[in-house]
Amino acid sequence: MNLDAILEKSSSRHRHLCPRQVLGARMGLAGAAALGVDVPQRNKRLLVIVETDGCFADGVAAATGCEMGHRTLRLADYGKIAATFVDVKTGTAVRIFPRSDVRQRAREYAPEERKHYFAQLVGYQRMPEAELLEIRPVTLTTPASEIVSRAGVRVNCALCGEEIINEREIVRDGMVLCRACAGPAYYEEVALVAERPFTLPIGAAAD
Ligand SMILES: [Zn+2]
Ligand SMILES: [Zn+2]
Repeated sequence: MNLDAILEKSSSRHRHLCPRQVLGARMGLAGAAALGVDVPQRNKRLLVIVETDGCFADGVAAATGCEMGHRTLRLADYGKIAATFVDVKTGTAVRIFPRSDVRQRAREYAPEERKHYFAQLVGYQRMPEAELLEIRPVTLTTPASEIVSRAGVRVNCALCGEEIINEREIVRDGMVLCRACAGPAYYEEVALVAERPFTLPIGAAAD
């Protein structure tokens, strides 16, 4: 799939095309090329860890075929337009991020565009990869085999009793705990008031 086809696929999910989708698509192609993996993939050889969600992640997904639903796309929410591409077969990995001056450089590749936004949108599509992206070899601190884990493994948390899959449990003092019970959890439970059924405030469901 070429860049135009990828961008069409990515923007169809948003009804718009934006510079971050272009960066995601370019990174997806660059990451796959650096690892010598064919994309969009039809197997699970490529694992991508994106460092932010949003449009950027959709550009990466469109280029690589990696999806959360396939367990080939993960989020490490660092708030960065960056991603690490892992060949799970060999463990080889590269982390890719835009070069620091890409916003300015994009203008040189789209001189006809007056607005910054459109200069980036067009420029990022035209810029040579070496000017757009920095590609660095990395090793994962948690091996890919542990991230992927095995199908069918499940245990129950000793405190809340909920089931844990993919070996995400934590063993502490011989107790098997889920990450929420081991803490800190990303949520706190709200005490339920019996006489008032749980309802969302009006408008809360509207995105
Ligand atoms: Zn967007
Ligand atoms: Zn628990």
